[in-house]
Amino acid sequence: MSGGDKLDFEIRPNPAPVSAAERAALLADPGFGRVFTDHMVTIRYADGKGWYDARVEARAPIPMDPATAVLHYAQEIFEGLKAYHAGDGGVTLFRPEANAARFTASAQRMAMAQLPEQAFLDSLRHLIEADREWIPAGDDGSLYLRPFMYASEVFLGVRPAAEYLYVLIASPVGSYFAGGVKPVTVWVSPHYTRAAPGGTGAAKCGGNYAASLVAQAEAIEHGCDQVVFLDTVERRYVDELGGMNVFFVYDDGTLVTPPLTGTILPGITRDSVITLAREAGHEVVERPVAFDEWQADAASGRLREVFACGTAAVITPIGRVRFPDGEFAIADGGPGEVSMAIRQRLVDIQRGRTDDPHGWVHRV
Ligand code: PMP
Repeated sequence: MSGGDKLDFEIRPNPAPVSAAERAALLADPGFGRVFTDHMVTIRYADGKGWYDARVEARAPIPMDPATAVLHYAQEIFEGLKAYHAGDGGVTLFRPEANAARFTASAQRMAMAQLPEQAFLDSLRHLIEADREWIPAGDDGSLYLRPFMYASEVFLGVRPAAEYLYVLIASPVGSYFAGGVKPVTVWVSPHYTRAAPGGTGAAKCGGNYAASLVAQAEAIEHGCDQVVFLDTVERRYVDELGGMNVFFVYDDGTLVTPPLTGTILPGITRDSVITLAREAGHEVVERPVAFDEWQADAASGRLREVFACGTAAVITPIGRVRFPDGEFAIADGGPGEVSMAIRQRLVDIQRGRTDDPHGWVHRV
Protein backbone atom coordinates (compact mmCIF):
# COMPACT_ATOMS: atom_id res chain seq x y z
CA MET A 1 0.00 0.00 0.00
CA SER A 2 1.10 3.59 -0.30
CA GLY A 3 0.25 6.93 1.16
CA GLY A 4 -1.57 6.03 4.41
CA ASP A 5 0.05 5.73 7.83
CA LYS A 6 -0.65 2.08 8.41
CA LEU A 7 1.42 -0.38 6.42
CA ASP A 8 0.66 -4.07 6.13
CA PHE A 9 3.73 -6.12 7.00
CA GLU A 10 4.34 -9.39 5.25
CA ILE A 11 5.92 -11.84 7.70
CA ARG A 12 8.41 -14.25 6.14
CA PRO A 13 9.94 -16.28 8.99
CA ASN A 14 13.62 -17.11 8.64
CA PRO A 15 13.72 -20.71 7.30
CA ALA A 16 17.11 -21.35 8.90
CA PRO A 17 17.21 -19.55 12.26
CA VAL A 18 20.13 -19.93 14.66
CA SER A 19 19.64 -23.05 16.83
CA ALA A 20 18.49 -22.61 20.43
CA ALA A 21 21.82 -23.95 21.71
CA GLU A 22 23.86 -21.58 19.55
CA ARG A 23 21.63 -18.66 20.50
CA ALA A 24 22.07 -19.43 24.20
CA ALA A 25 25.84 -19.46 23.71
CA LEU A 26 25.73 -16.10 21.92
CA LEU A 27 23.47 -14.58 24.57
CA ALA A 28 25.79 -15.67 27.38
CA ASP A 29 28.23 -12.91 26.44
CA PRO A 30 26.87 -10.80 23.59
CA GLY A 31 29.10 -7.75 24.06
CA PHE A 32 27.78 -4.67 22.27
CA GLY A 33 26.74 -4.58 18.60
CA ARG A 34 28.40 -7.80 17.44
CA VAL A 35 25.60 -10.37 17.65
CA PHE A 36 22.45 -10.01 15.55
CA THR A 37 19.04 -11.66 15.57
CA ASP A 38 17.44 -13.91 12.91
CA HIS A 39 15.23 -11.28 11.29
CA MET A 40 15.13 -7.74 9.95
CA VAL A 41 12.39 -5.41 8.76
CA THR A 42 12.62 -3.68 5.40
CA ILE A 43 10.30 -1.08 3.89
CA ARG A 44 10.81 0.55 0.51
CA TYR A 45 9.95 4.03 -0.68
CA ALA A 46 9.80 5.58 -4.12
CA ASP A 47 8.60 9.04 -5.12
CA GLY A 48 5.12 8.77 -6.62
CA LYS A 49 4.60 5.34 -5.09
CA GLY A 50 5.07 6.02 -1.38
CA TRP A 51 6.01 3.32 1.17
CA TYR A 52 5.61 -0.28 0.01
CA ASP A 53 6.83 -3.85 0.51
CA ALA A 54 6.94 -3.72 4.32
CA ARG A 55 8.41 -7.05 5.38
CA VAL A 56 9.82 -9.04 8.24
CA GLU A 57 12.33 -11.43 6.72
CA ALA A 58 15.56 -13.31 7.38
CA ARG A 59 18.40 -10.94 8.23
CA ALA A 60 20.70 -11.01 5.23
CA PRO A 61 23.16 -8.85 3.29
CA ILE A 62 21.54 -6.19 1.11
CA PRO A 63 22.97 -6.21 -2.42
CA MET A 64 23.88 -2.70 -3.53
CA ASP A 65 24.66 -1.15 -6.87
CA PRO A 66 27.97 0.77 -6.68
CA ALA A 67 26.13 3.91 -7.77
CA THR A 68 23.64 3.75 -4.88
CA ALA A 69 23.29 7.36 -3.73
CA VAL A 70 24.05 6.80 -0.03
CA LEU A 71 27.54 5.52 -0.87
CA HIS A 72 28.38 8.85 -2.45
CA TYR A 73 26.38 11.57 -0.70
CA ALA A 74 25.70 9.97 2.70
CA GLN A 75 21.95 10.52 2.82
CA GLU A 76 21.44 8.25 5.81
CA ILE A 77 19.80 8.49 9.25
CA PHE A 78 19.37 6.10 12.15
CA GLU A 79 17.95 5.60 15.61
CA GLY A 80 18.86 3.52 18.64
CA LEU A 81 16.61 2.18 21.39
CA LYS A 82 16.33 -0.87 23.59
CA ALA A 83 13.75 -3.55 24.37
CA TYR A 84 13.88 -5.01 27.89
CA HIS A 85 12.52 -8.09 29.58
CA ALA A 86 9.99 -6.83 32.11
CA GLY A 87 9.91 -8.69 35.43
CA ASP A 88 6.50 -10.20 34.57
CA GLY A 89 7.66 -11.93 31.39
CA GLY A 90 6.55 -9.12 29.06
CA VAL A 91 8.78 -6.91 26.92
CA THR A 92 9.09 -3.15 27.34
CA LEU A 93 10.22 -0.35 25.07
CA PHE A 94 11.17 3.04 26.47
CA ARG A 95 9.61 6.10 24.76
CA PRO A 96 9.69 4.61 21.24
CA GLU A 97 7.42 7.38 19.97
CA ALA A 98 10.19 9.85 20.87
CA ASN A 99 12.59 7.89 18.64
CA ALA A 100 9.94 7.87 15.90
CA ALA A 101 9.58 11.65 16.14
CA ARG A 102 13.35 12.18 16.09
CA PHE A 103 13.62 9.87 13.06
CA THR A 104 11.10 12.11 11.29
CA ALA A 105 13.04 15.23 12.28
CA SER A 106 16.29 13.68 11.05
CA ALA A 107 14.64 12.72 7.74
CA GLN A 108 13.40 16.30 7.29
CA ARG A 109 16.87 17.74 7.92
CA MET A 110 18.46 15.32 5.45
CA ALA A 111 15.77 15.98 2.79
CA MET A 112 14.65 12.35 2.91
CA ALA A 113 11.23 10.73 2.68
CA GLN A 114 9.46 10.54 6.04
CA LEU A 115 8.34 7.14 7.25
CA PRO A 116 4.94 7.41 8.98
CA GLU A 117 5.63 7.23 12.71
CA GLN A 118 3.04 4.48 13.12
CA ALA A 119 4.96 2.34 10.61
CA PHE A 120 8.19 2.96 12.57
CA LEU A 121 6.47 1.80 15.78
CA ASP A 122 4.84 -1.18 14.05
CA SER A 123 8.22 -2.24 12.66
CA LEU A 124 9.63 -2.38 16.22
CA ARG A 125 6.72 -4.50 17.38
CA HIS A 126 6.99 -6.90 14.45
CA LEU A 127 10.72 -7.44 14.89
CA ILE A 128 10.38 -7.99 18.64
CA GLU A 129 7.63 -10.53 17.99
CA ALA A 130 9.83 -12.38 15.48
CA ASP A 131 12.99 -12.24 17.61
CA ARG A 132 11.62 -12.28 21.17
CA GLU A 133 13.90 -15.22 22.07
CA TRP A 134 16.90 -12.98 21.45
CA ILE A 135 16.22 -10.58 24.32
CA PRO A 136 18.80 -11.43 26.97
CA ALA A 137 17.29 -12.46 30.29
CA GLY A 138 18.65 -10.99 33.49
CA ASP A 139 18.95 -7.52 34.89
CA ASP A 140 21.61 -6.05 32.64
CA GLY A 141 20.90 -7.26 29.14
CA SER A 142 18.61 -5.79 26.51
CA LEU A 143 17.87 -5.99 22.80
CA TYR A 144 19.31 -2.95 21.05
CA LEU A 145 17.10 -1.94 18.12
CA ARG A 146 18.67 -0.11 15.21
CA PRO A 147 16.23 1.46 12.74
CA PHE A 148 17.93 3.21 9.82
CA MET A 149 17.12 4.56 6.39
CA TYR A 150 19.25 5.41 3.38
CA ALA A 151 19.07 6.77 -0.14
CA SER A 152 18.76 3.59 -2.23
CA GLU A 153 18.29 5.23 -5.60
CA VAL A 154 20.97 4.35 -8.14
CA PHE A 155 22.20 7.67 -9.46
CA LEU A 156 25.15 10.06 -9.31
CA GLY A 157 24.18 13.66 -8.73
CA VAL A 158 23.77 15.88 -5.71
CA ARG A 159 20.03 16.07 -5.05
CA PRO A 160 17.67 14.33 -2.64
CA ALA A 161 17.17 10.73 -3.74
CA ALA A 162 13.82 9.57 -5.07
CA GLU A 163 14.07 6.12 -3.45
CA TYR A 164 14.82 5.03 0.11
CA LEU A 165 15.15 1.81 2.05
CA TYR A 166 14.13 1.67 5.71
CA VAL A 167 15.69 -1.23 7.63
CA LEU A 168 15.39 -2.37 11.23
CA ILE A 169 17.89 -4.79 12.74
CA ALA A 170 18.39 -5.87 16.36
CA SER A 171 21.38 -6.82 18.46
CA PRO A 172 21.29 -8.42 21.92
CA VAL A 173 23.61 -6.51 24.23
CA GLY A 174 25.00 -7.18 27.67
CA SER A 175 25.74 -4.73 30.44
CA TYR A 176 27.52 -1.69 29.11
CA PHE A 177 29.62 -1.70 32.25
CA ALA A 178 31.25 -5.01 33.03
CA GLY A 179 31.78 -4.82 36.78
CA GLY A 180 29.54 -1.89 37.68
CA VAL A 181 29.26 1.75 36.72
CA LYS A 182 32.73 3.27 36.40
CA PRO A 183 33.44 6.97 35.95
CA VAL A 184 35.07 7.80 32.63
CA THR A 185 37.79 10.27 31.68
CA VAL A 186 36.89 12.63 28.85
CA TRP A 187 39.05 14.51 26.35
CA VAL A 188 38.14 18.05 25.40
CA SER A 189 39.08 18.28 21.75
CA PRO A 190 41.11 21.37 20.88
CA HIS A 191 41.02 20.81 17.10
CA TYR A 192 37.75 19.24 16.13
CA THR A 193 34.18 20.40 16.47
CA ARG A 194 31.04 18.41 15.80
CA ALA A 195 28.31 20.64 14.44
CA ALA A 196 27.96 24.30 13.53
CA PRO A 197 24.82 26.42 13.87
CA GLY A 198 22.68 25.65 10.85
CA GLY A 199 24.42 22.30 10.41
CA THR A 200 23.23 18.77 11.08
CA GLY A 201 24.03 18.47 14.81
CA ALA A 202 20.43 17.85 15.84
CA ALA A 203 19.93 15.11 13.24
CA LYS A 204 20.94 11.53 13.85
CA CYS A 205 22.72 11.08 10.53
CA GLY A 206 25.70 8.81 9.92
CA GLY A 207 27.78 11.70 8.62
CA ASN A 208 27.88 13.32 12.08
CA TYR A 209 29.49 10.20 13.45
CA ALA A 210 31.94 9.80 10.56
CA ALA A 211 33.12 13.35 11.26
CA SER A 212 33.53 12.65 14.98
CA LEU A 213 35.77 9.58 14.67
CA VAL A 214 39.06 11.42 14.35
CA ALA A 215 38.29 13.34 17.53
CA GLN A 216 37.30 10.13 19.33
CA ALA A 217 40.57 8.54 18.16
CA GLU A 218 42.44 11.55 19.57
CA ALA A 219 40.63 11.02 22.91
CA ILE A 220 41.74 7.38 23.00
CA GLU A 221 45.33 8.38 22.16
CA HIS A 222 45.26 10.61 25.22
CA GLY A 223 44.05 7.79 27.44
CA CYS A 224 40.45 9.03 27.54
CA ASP A 225 37.20 7.14 26.99
CA GLN A 226 35.14 9.76 25.17
CA VAL A 227 35.51 13.09 23.43
CA VAL A 228 33.78 16.30 24.52
CA PHE A 229 32.97 18.74 21.73
CA LEU A 230 32.99 22.49 22.25
CA ASP A 231 30.87 24.88 20.19
CA THR A 232 32.11 25.80 16.72
CA VAL A 233 31.76 29.58 17.03
CA GLU A 234 33.76 30.47 20.14
CA ARG A 235 35.29 27.07 20.89
CA ARG A 236 34.35 27.76 24.46
CA TYR A 237 30.97 26.23 25.35
CA VAL A 238 30.39 22.53 25.97
CA ASP A 239 28.12 20.95 23.37
CA GLU A 240 28.04 17.20 24.04
CA LEU A 241 30.09 14.01 23.94
CA GLY A 242 30.63 11.85 20.85
CA GLY A 243 27.52 9.83 21.61
CA MET A 244 26.00 11.27 24.79
CA ASN A 245 24.58 14.47 26.27
CA VAL A 246 26.12 16.01 29.38
CA PHE A 247 24.83 17.27 32.77
CA PHE A 248 26.56 19.26 35.52
CA VAL A 249 25.40 18.90 39.16
CA TYR A 250 26.17 21.81 41.53
CA ASP A 251 26.47 21.85 45.31
CA ASP A 252 23.05 23.50 45.72
CA GLY A 253 21.45 20.53 43.90
CA THR A 254 20.93 22.38 40.61
CA LEU A 255 21.49 20.46 37.37
CA VAL A 256 22.70 22.34 34.29
CA THR A 257 22.76 21.00 30.73
CA PRO A 258 23.53 22.71 27.40
CA PRO A 259 20.40 23.95 25.59
CA LEU A 260 18.99 22.46 22.37
CA THR A 261 20.10 25.12 19.93
CA GLY A 262 20.42 22.82 16.94
CA THR A 263 24.06 21.82 17.36
CA ILE A 264 23.50 18.88 19.72
CA LEU A 265 21.38 15.77 19.48
CA PRO A 266 18.14 16.11 21.48
CA GLY A 267 18.72 12.97 23.56
CA ILE A 268 15.71 11.06 24.82
CA THR A 269 17.69 10.16 27.94
CA ARG A 270 18.52 13.88 28.37
CA ASP A 271 14.84 14.77 28.21
CA SER A 272 13.93 11.98 30.66
CA VAL A 273 16.68 13.04 33.09
CA ILE A 274 15.37 16.63 33.09
CA THR A 275 11.89 15.39 34.00
CA LEU A 276 13.04 12.92 36.67
CA ALA A 277 15.48 15.39 38.26
CA ARG A 278 12.74 18.02 38.54
CA GLU A 279 10.42 15.44 40.10
CA ALA A 280 13.15 14.60 42.62
CA GLY A 281 13.20 18.28 43.65
CA HIS A 282 16.22 19.50 41.66
CA GLU A 283 16.22 22.71 39.73
CA VAL A 284 17.26 22.00 36.12
CA VAL A 285 18.61 24.80 33.96
CA GLU A 286 19.29 24.56 30.22
CA ARG A 287 22.06 27.04 29.51
CA PRO A 288 25.49 27.13 27.88
CA VAL A 289 28.37 25.98 30.10
CA ALA A 290 31.82 27.37 29.23
CA PHE A 291 34.84 25.11 29.51
CA ASP A 292 36.67 27.66 31.72
CA GLU A 293 33.63 27.79 34.00
CA TRP A 294 33.63 23.96 34.20
CA GLN A 295 37.28 24.03 35.26
CA ALA A 296 36.83 26.84 37.80
CA ASP A 297 33.74 25.28 39.39
CA ALA A 298 35.45 21.89 39.63
CA ALA A 299 38.43 23.58 41.34
CA SER A 300 36.28 25.51 43.81
CA GLY A 301 34.24 22.42 44.67
CA ARG A 302 30.97 24.08 43.64
CA LEU A 303 30.60 21.48 40.90
CA ARG A 304 29.86 18.18 42.62
CA GLU A 305 29.12 15.78 39.76
CA VAL A 306 29.19 15.59 35.97
CA PHE A 307 27.58 12.83 33.98
CA ALA A 308 26.97 11.84 30.38
CA CYS A 309 23.69 10.22 29.33
CA GLY A 310 22.35 8.25 26.40
CA THR A 311 20.53 5.05 25.47
CA ALA A 312 23.60 2.81 25.36
CA ALA A 313 25.03 3.45 28.84
CA VAL A 314 22.06 5.29 30.48
CA ILE A 315 24.13 7.52 32.80
CA THR A 316 27.92 7.51 32.88
CA PRO A 317 29.69 9.54 35.58
CA ILE A 318 32.55 11.70 34.32
CA GLY A 319 35.39 11.50 36.83
CA ARG A 320 38.24 13.32 35.09
CA VAL A 321 38.62 15.85 32.30
CA ARG A 322 41.75 16.06 30.16
CA PHE A 323 42.72 18.76 27.65
CA PRO A 324 45.99 19.74 25.95
CA ASP A 325 47.13 21.98 28.85
CA GLY A 326 46.23 19.77 31.75
CA GLU A 327 43.61 17.77 33.55
CA PHE A 328 41.25 18.03 36.50
CA ALA A 329 38.94 15.80 38.54
CA ILE A 330 35.29 16.26 39.42
CA ALA A 331 35.05 16.07 43.24
CA ASP A 332 36.75 12.79 44.25
CA GLY A 333 36.40 11.33 40.74
CA GLY A 334 33.86 8.71 41.88
CA PRO A 335 30.22 8.21 40.84
CA GLY A 336 28.07 10.96 42.39
CA GLU A 337 25.00 10.40 44.52
CA VAL A 338 22.65 12.50 42.42
CA SER A 339 23.80 10.87 39.16
CA MET A 340 23.37 7.38 40.56
CA ALA A 341 19.94 8.09 42.08
CA ILE A 342 18.61 9.42 38.76
CA ARG A 343 20.19 6.47 36.98
CA GLN A 344 18.46 3.97 39.28
CA ARG A 345 15.07 5.64 38.85
CA LEU A 346 15.44 5.69 35.08
CA VAL A 347 16.57 2.05 34.84
CA ASP A 348 13.68 0.95 37.09
CA ILE A 349 11.17 2.72 34.83
CA GLN A 350 12.77 1.38 31.63
CA ARG A 351 12.55 -2.19 32.89
CA GLY A 352 8.97 -1.84 34.08
CA ARG A 353 9.94 -2.33 37.75
CA THR A 354 8.22 0.75 39.13
CA ASP A 355 5.45 3.26 38.54
CA ASP A 356 5.48 5.02 35.17
CA PRO A 357 3.71 8.35 35.70
CA HIS A 358 4.56 9.67 32.24
CA GLY A 359 3.48 6.62 30.24
CA TRP A 360 7.02 6.22 28.88
CA VAL A 361 6.99 2.44 28.83
CA HIS A 362 5.35 0.59 25.96
CA ARG A 363 4.60 -3.08 26.36
CA VAL A 364 4.98 -5.38 23.40
N1 PMP B 1 24.27 12.71 21.55
C1 PMP B 1 24.71 11.93 20.56
C2 PMP B 1 25.66 12.51 19.58
C3 PMP B 1 24.26 10.60 20.44
O1 PMP B 1 24.70 9.81 19.44
C4 PMP B 1 23.35 10.10 21.39
C5 PMP B 1 22.87 8.67 21.29
N2 PMP B 1 21.71 8.57 20.50
C6 PMP B 1 22.91 10.96 22.41
C7 PMP B 1 23.40 12.25 22.46
C8 PMP B 1 21.92 10.49 23.43
O2 PMP B 1 20.65 10.31 22.85
P1 PMP B 1 19.62 9.28 23.46
O3 PMP B 1 19.48 9.62 24.90
O4 PMP B 1 18.37 9.51 22.70
O5 PMP B 1 20.19 7.93 23.26
